Parts: sequence; structure tokens; C-alpha cells
Amino acid sequence: MKVLKFGGTSVGSVSGILNVKKIVESAKEPVIVVISALSGITDKLIYTSNMAANGDLTYEDEFREIVQRHVGLINEAIPAGNVQVEAQQRTGELLNELKDILQGIYLIKDLSSKTSDMIVSYGERLSSIIATRLINGANYLDARTFIKTEKKFSKHILDSELTNQLIKETFKTYPPIAIVPGFISSDKTNGNITNLGRGGSDYTAAIIAAALDAKGLEIWTDVDGFMTADPRVINSAYTINELTYVEAMELCNFGAKVIYPPTIYPVCHKNIPILIKNTFNPSAQGTTIIKEKCSSESKAIKGISSINDTSLITIQGLGMVGVIGVNYRIFKALAKNGISVFLVSQASSENSTSIGLRNDDADLACQVLNEEFAKEIEMGEINTVTAEKGLATIAIVGENMKHTPGIAGKLFGTLGRNGINVIACAQGASETNISFVVDARFLRKSLNVIHDSFFLSEYQVLNLFICGTGTVGGSLIEQIRNQRQKLMEENGLKLNVVGIMDAFRALFCREGIDLSNYQGELQEKGIEGSVQAMHDGVIGMNIFNSVFVDCTASPDVASLYKDFLQHNISVVAANKIAASSEYGNYRELKQIARKRGVKYLFETNVGAGLPIINTINDLINSGDKILKIEAVLSGTLNYIFNKISADIPFSHAIKMAQEERYSEPDPRIDLSGKDVIRKLVILAREAGSQLEQENVISNLFVPEDYFKGSLDEFWERIPQLDAEFENRRKKLASENKRLRFVAKLENGKASVGLQEVDSKHPAYDLEGSNNIILLTTARYNEYPMMIKGYGAGAGVTAAGVFADIMSIANV
Ligand code: ADP
Ligand code: ASP
Ligand code: MG
Repeated sequence: MKVLKFGGTSVGSVSGILNVKKIVESAKEPVIVVISALSGITDKLIYTSNMAANGDLTYEDEFREIVQRHVGLINEAIPAGNVQVEAQQRTGELLNELKDILQGIYLIKDLSSKTSDMIVSYGERLSSIIATRLINGANYLDARTFIKTEKKFSKHILDSELTNQLIKETFKTYPPIAIVPGFISSDKTNGNITNLGRGGSDYTAAIIAAALDAKGLEIWTDVDGFMTADPRVINSAYTINELTYVEAMELCNFGAKVIYPPTIYPVCHKNIPILIKNTFNPSAQGTTIIKEKCSSESKAIKGISSINDTSLITIQGLGMVGVIGVNYRIFKALAKNGISVFLVSQASSENSTSIGLRNDDADLACQVLNEEFAKEIEMGEINTVTAEKGLATIAIVGENMKHTPGIAGKLFGTLGRNGINVIACAQGASETNISFVVDARFLRKSLNVIHDSFFLSEYQVLNLFICGTGTVGGSLIEQIRNQRQKLMEENGLKLNVVGIMDAFRALFCREGIDLSNYQGELQEKGIEGSVQAMHDGVIGMNIFNSVFVDCTASPDVASLYKDFLQHNISVVAANKIAASSEYGNYRELKQIARKRGVKYLFETNVGAGLPIINTINDLINSGDKILKIEAVLSGTLNYIFNKISADIPFSHAIKMAQEERYSEPDPRIDLSGKDVIRKLVILAREAGSQLEQENVISNLFVPEDYFKGSLDEFWERIPQLDAEFENRRKKLASENKRLRFVAKLENGKASVGLQEVDSKHPAYDLEGSNNIILLTTARYNEYPMMIKGYGAGAGVTAAGVFADIMSIANV
């Protein structure tokens, strides 16, 4: 004999209940079928009766909906005919009773807990009548006659002994199919209707299975089994095929709603396996819960669960140290008042004990503890007890955690890197559960990072905010779009773009933006963009493993990095402004990143995608010393000086550089050497110097007053310089020399300026917009290290940004 329990969603729809019929009728042995109320009905009964008690006549509308759900289900699931009529009649009688009770409540405006218990019982009574009529050969047995409770601490507690005895008597012989309403019971002394608590149908089934030594207990629900985390929060959660009773108990005790916690004990005691199955997908394997694990599962943790509703009470004071019996008094006072504690943590210094309990119990707990310790509080030995509310408790569970070092380290390290503060934690010596308390606002993020870092997810997720959709940003988005699938399949990395922002609009989407139509979505679903909107959107999303990618040249955007890093969001910048700003600011950003365990990367600030900054870092980290840097760092200027010819005057070459999108949006930044100064400053700093922009000697080749007016004025005036440059070019060509804009750093002295180089100089044949960097170091001394290649362009810059992003993912 087996016991099958079908939950609210299983019986709550026509397709569901027809599946139930199929599953039950195909059983090859006697079955006892425990049925929940139709999904949502228990909540609705509570809500409706409260409305009636509050004198709100619209309770009648709610009641009508309850009637309609049942009438509708019968009409659609049971074919027209006698059986359908009988079902309507029998449920009609119950619904009429219910109507009268609700009316009574409305009239007297009072709802006792006894009446409330009676009202909620209708849910299971109605659903099991429908199931009995629908399923061929089914016999209805009322749980109230054999599930008996007694009252303790104003709660109805199961009387196991009596119940077991009554179940055995009731089921002396099994009908092939018995239908039993779940959840409901009756008081052993006065016969009043009671229940086993919300979600209690699972418990009903377990009690029956244990009393009758059933072969198995099957819990049929609306998911494929016990999952690694709540699938409504973690969409990458997946089904666990096998759990031990201990693991299942730990998980459901901590909020994994898939089984009502008291369910496990009775069947575990009798070693009856539990099988969780999906009514809507019966062929799925489901989850088997047994005593000892059979499979050689290698993952250290099996699942994560959480309770959102948490308050933390800390009893502390120097007067507690070494005093015997403080904990005894704490728990005695709480137990006397029926307050349940689910987490306890005491420091070995003994001067504080923290307890986790439900928000609803917090005020009463403070009150009773303050009374219990009134004398000590008055003497100043113990502080007044207060509660910290609005918290959440998370538990990671798995029997494999036993004797596996490093789990707690990894757990807390991951949380820390994501800016999640752990307020209290507890691990029992059984080592099957580590529980900790965080601010409830961090619950979702905590679950996500843990799921991700313990490889419960099939892939690691990196959540990206991309700011700037111009040449570099646009190209980056395209590259990510093309590469995503491959990274997911081959590197187990999911790049999830959760924010895209430009100067006008901002779009945020936790689930990920469709990159094939981000422009359209930005227009349609985006909000108006501003620096503030960007700041609030990125920080407000509070999403784990996140990276802010700046593909703009905006100082306003650069001013946000500090806050982002402080919120544990890594920053990848193509934007050079922050790294070349005041040295103090540059250093602060790097320090915050280090302290927070996140990254601030800007490889593309110099030489686009060329590996310059990383190379300098690698040299220095291995003990080398940078003695001299000599470089052509402006793709734009190099392009211009390569382009100038008898046919292409200076001003035209500038225009071409802009059209090719090599130059900064404002080409004067390039022509004034400002862009190169910024780059040199960044290189110098990475090489260990504290260089500021104003300390770089700049030998301009365009007179300073050309940079003063508007951009239009600049374009108007610049052709005035064409003749001079043509003369210079002609002269140099005859000497076999070329113009290069060279940045230099040596002995702490930095300069940028136009240099005439002859054919022996490595920069002489530097083509197009290419860059070259010569690094003379203690090790690369006689022959400097040379890095050369494209120094500008959207594609290569975007690829460099992409590489920085990948280095954060560390795959
Ligand atoms: P039933 O009505 O069948 O008793 P419940 O709603 O009580 O179903 O429980 C099933 C639900 O539990 C699932 O739909 C799922 O949303 C939720 N749930 C929470 N945590 C988990 C988990 N770890 N594994 C599976 N389901 C979970
Ligand atoms: N119907 C009850 C509830 O919603 C019991 C159950 O479904 O298990 O809590
Ligand atoms: Mg349930």
C-alpha cells in the first residue's frame, strides 16, 4: 500500500485534477490518496471570513468566487450525468453551510479561532468530495475521525498515539482507493474541527503512511521535485534526484515550501521513502528522500533555503560572562510563551547570545526577556533586549559538507565579495547545515551568489551594466551577442546584460536584455536617462556578480565609479577620465576595489585592445622595474601624420580621422595632446609613479588659441595651418624622416610632443592608426620590450573591454 498526496495546484485546475485521476486509477496496489484544498482556496477562506468579521459586505463577492471555483471544476472535469449532479449536490450542501457561517460572522462581527478552524476545513472537504466522485472506485474517509489533536500552548498538536491507533482501526482493510482530505483533524476531547497547520496535508499523508507502514509516500505537486533552491527566486535551480531525510528536513525547515516540515519525521522514523513527483509531468524522475545516500554525489551542498521573515534578538552584556544558566533562562522564558527559536549563535566570549525568530514573535520575545532579566538590566549587567527586524535567514544544506574543509570560507568569501553583510551565523556540529542571517533586502542576491558559486548552477553568471551605446559600446554589445552561446557552452559562463544606458535613456532588466533588439527596447521600455537614474538603477538592482562597463568619455559617468565599487560592483572602463584624474582619486578607486574584493580595470585606456597595462602589471608584480617608456599612443595623431600628403592637407586628415571614428568625439582632445597625456599619466601610475597631468611637459604643434573657442570655430580656423604642415612634410620627406607624436617617461620626467623620426626609429614605419610602446626595464634593458598594433578603433577597443570583463569572470 502507498500513500499519495496531491497538493492544491494538482487539484486546482481541470487539467491537474484529470491528471490526478489518471495517476490514481493506474496504481497497481491499494492507495490512500490525501487531497489538499484547491490552490488558493485556504487563503481565500481566511480572507473572506476576516472581511465578514470586519463588517465588509463585499465578502459575498469573495464567497461567490469560492463557489464558482468548485462548481466550475465539477462541470468541466466530471462528464454531465448523475455523478456530476451528485458532486454538485454534495458540494452545494457544504457551500450552503459555509455561507450560513460567514453570514453569522458578518452579523456578530466576531471570528473566534475555533470558527476560523471550522471555516478553513471546508477547503479540503470540498476538494476531496470532488476527487471522490471523479476517480473511479474511490471511497471517501473523513480525516477528522482519525487524525486527533490536543491543545498545548494554545496550539493544536497531534496526539500521535491516539491517531495511530485510530488510523489502524479505520484502515483494517484497505479499499483499493481511499480518498482522505488533508490538513484537517479534530480535537480529541471536544471533537471541534482543528487542523495541522498551513501546508499540513503533507503531514496528514505522512502520519497515515507511518501508522500503516506504507511502502512509500508520494507527494505530488507542481514542480519536478525538490530543487536546489526556490525556483521562483533562482531560475537556474534544478531538481535534486536524491536527498537524505536529514537533508530534506534541513531544507524544508528553512523555508523550502515543497514539503511541510513535520512531514519528514514520521516516515523517517519508519524508514519509508518519500517520492516527490510532478502531477503535470509524471514521467520526470522526481526526488527520492531516503535514509542514506546511495549515489556518489560529489557536490558539497545539496540545496539552499531561506526564511524571509526573521528577527534577531541579541542578549548581551559584560555581566553575562561566566554566569551559569543565562541561556537556560533565555530559552525557558521563550518556551513558556510558546515562542519558537530557529537559530542560535553564541560567541565563545559568552557576552552575547543571538537568537533568530519570526518577526511576529519578536515583540513578545523582547518583552518576556526584559522581564526575565529585569534585575540584571537594572544593575547594568545585561543590556535592554531589543529586536532587529526585517532580516532573512539562509541555510546551505548537504551531508557532504561533513568533514569538507573550506565550505564556510567559500560561503562567506562569496558573500563578502558581493557586499553582503552577515549579521549572525550558526553551524551545528553535525555539519549538515550552515545558517546565517542577512538584511532581507539582500536575500535574493545572497541566494543567487551562493547558488552560483557552489556550482549548483550549470553556469556562472556575470551581470553586466553597459553604459554607452556608441562605437565602442555598440560594438561590445554585438561581440557579447555573438559570443554568448559559446561562452555558455564551453566556459560555463553566462553573460547577462541587465542594464544598458546611453545619454538619453536607461533600461534595466534583471532577467537580461534581448541584445538583438536592445535599441528598440531602450526606446520602448527604457526610462529617461540621467547620471542619477544610472546610479540609482545600477545600485538599486542590487544584483550579484555585477560589472559596470563604461564605454563613454563622460566625466559624469566616471564620477560614479567610487559608489559602484563601494557597492561591490566591478568597473571596467574604456573611459580614461577616472584613471587619469587626480592621483588621489585614481588611488582611492584602486584601493576601494581591493578592499571590496572587486575589480577596477581599464586596459583599453591605453592602446585600445593592446595588452599594455596588464603587461606593465605583470612585469612589476614579478619584481621588474620600468626605467623608461617611449610610445606613440595616439592612434588618431598617427593616422593624421600618416595621411598628410600633397593631396591631403592637415585639416582634411583630421576630418578623416574623425570620420573613421579614431578620434575622440572632440578631436581637439587628440590634437592638444590631452589624450596622450592622459594615457601617459595612466601608464606612469601603473609603473609606480604618482604623475599628474599638469606635470607632463607638452610640446604643442597646434597653437593654443585654436583650442579656446567652440568646436565649429575650430573647424573653421584649422585650414589656416595646412600650408605650414605641408611645408614641413615636404622638407621631412626629402630627409627621409617622418612626424610622430611621442610620449616619454624617464627618470620621473614625462613629456609629449611632435618628434621627427628617421628610418631607424621603431616608430618610423608605424602605419595607420597603430600604436607602439617601448618598455625599457631592468630586465628588458638593452633591447626594450615592444608592443605594437592597432591603437584605436571600435572593434579592437570593444574586444579589449570584453577581455577585461572575462578576466573578472576568471574562467
Ligand atoms: P502543493 O500545493 O503541491 O503542496 P506547495 O505550493 O506547497 O505545493 O509547494 C510547491 C512549491 O514550493 C513549488 O511550486 C515551488 O514554488 C516552491 N518551492 C520553494 N522552494 C522549493 C524547492 N527548494 N524546491 C522545489 N520547490 C520549492
Ligand atoms: N490547504 C492547506 C493550506 O493551504 C493545506 C495544504 O494545502 O497542505 O495550507
Ligand atoms: Mg504544500
